[in-house]
Amino acid sequence: MEKIVSLCKRRGFIFQSSGIYGGINGCWDFGPLGVELKRNLKDDWWYVFVQQREDIVGLDASIIMHPDVWVASGHVAEFHDMLVDCKECKHRFREDHLEGDRCPDCGGELTEPKAFNSMLKTRLGVSDESAVDTYLRPETCQAIFVDFKEVYSSSRTKVPFGIAQIGKSFRNEVNPRNFIFRSREFEQMEIEFFCKAEEEEAWFDRWQRDIWQWYLDLGLTEGKLRWYEHPKESLSHYSKRTVDVEYDFPFGWGELQGLANRGTYDLTQHTNHSGKDLKFFDQEAHESYIPTVIEPSAGADRTCLAVLCDAYCEEEVPTAKEGETETRIVMKFSPRLAPIKAAVLPLVKKDGLAEIGQELERKLRKKFNTFYDQSGAIGRRYRRMDEVGTPYCICLDYETKENETVTIRDRDTMEQIRIKMDEVADYIGQRCSHERD
Ligand code: ATP
Repeated sequence: MEKIVSLCKRRGFIFQSSGIYGGINGCWDFGPLGVELKRNLKDDWWYVFVQQREDIVGLDASIIMHPDVWVASGHVAEFHDMLVDCKECKHRFREDHLEGDRCPDCGGELTEPKAFNSMLKTRLGVSDESAVDTYLRPETCQAIFVDFKEVYSSSRTKVPFGIAQIGKSFRNEVNPRNFIFRSREFEQMEIEFFCKAEEEEAWFDRWQRDIWQWYLDLGLTEGKLRWYEHPKESLSHYSKRTVDVEYDFPFGWGELQGLANRGTYDLTQHTNHSGKDLKFFDQEAHESYIPTVIEPSAGADRTCLAVLCDAYCEEEVPTAKEGETETRIVMKFSPRLAPIKAAVLPLVKKDGLAEIGQELERKLRKKFNTFYDQSGAIGRRYRRMDEVGTPYCICLDYETKENETVTIRDRDTMEQIRIKMDEVADYIGQRCSHERD
């Protein structure tokens, strides 16, 4: 894990928020490469689960909502972590994260658990008298329930259908830890899928299959993924059944995504609290009902972390000197997720190769994210690109001027092929998109 954290900082994937002020616990900044990786991940999710599906539409709702939303949803009363304090070292822990009944840091005696609401409070309004307390949302899905009627009546969708949203969520986590795995500000990718009660099991199964497949398509190692079924007695207040997809991180198994059957809980609560009818009217059957909800809820940051951990490889490779090897650090991102898709590297700057290279890079940049580098030994330039997971390196050499060809080096096999310069865009573009699926 330390190696991954250090690579993320060194190469501008992720660093601490407010670093020059000593940092702030539980908040992280995605740097130039990290933002590309995370954006590719979210775009992939949106492409697969929204744009490619006829039965799902999108939403981008406000982060701050009416305070009554959180009363209706049950968060004001129920969104608690049970906390215990160590009587000796005063460290604070979530009771459900402890393995024994003593302090994991010093072995001291622990206090009785106390409830702590993990929503982040904020105040809205300009004067002290008129300002109201509300919360930064702890999950993105409540807006989907609150806007349910607006969405289905304006988009002519019919049950079964889903509403998807990607956005920031905030939780005042007691112990933010494990890098971006548990933070106080994070991004969720959620779908509320509305169906008839009698079809809930079939849809739950279908969603299990679909989300599992998505992780495989991202290139995660199947042996590092597993399902965890929540026992009935520890289900959240709204859930009839929850299963999590877990990933085997360097610090142990951790949840990437929850799949929950929320039943009719949320729409019923919002109907009761707002006084507005949130039933779905089925025009063909002439009946109104509150649909059942199946919810896949994934974390973009945790998925990013799993992708980073899964991609990290160290390999011993031969150097130019006979019999010597060196360690190659390579991030084996799936080409679709890689922050930079191709690097253009003229073997030498002279003989017009730099100019041809820059022109090629400008052309490719219109289609996907590229990088141009002409300085230093070619081997070192390849290594720099390996370390940030660039799947293709295009090298311009002495043959380029003779016959308008370049070599393309594959990051994982390190093999090179020679192709015509005007075929490069299609060759790389197809391999870095869903076009070849
Ligand atoms: P945990 O038990 O790990 O606290 P949770 O079960 O409370 O997580 P959910 O409420 O199911 O999490 O949230 C759905 C998804 O949102 C999680 O699977 C995870 O990917 C992401 N998520 C939740 N809390 C955090 C956090 N503090 N930091 C980063 N991602 C989070």
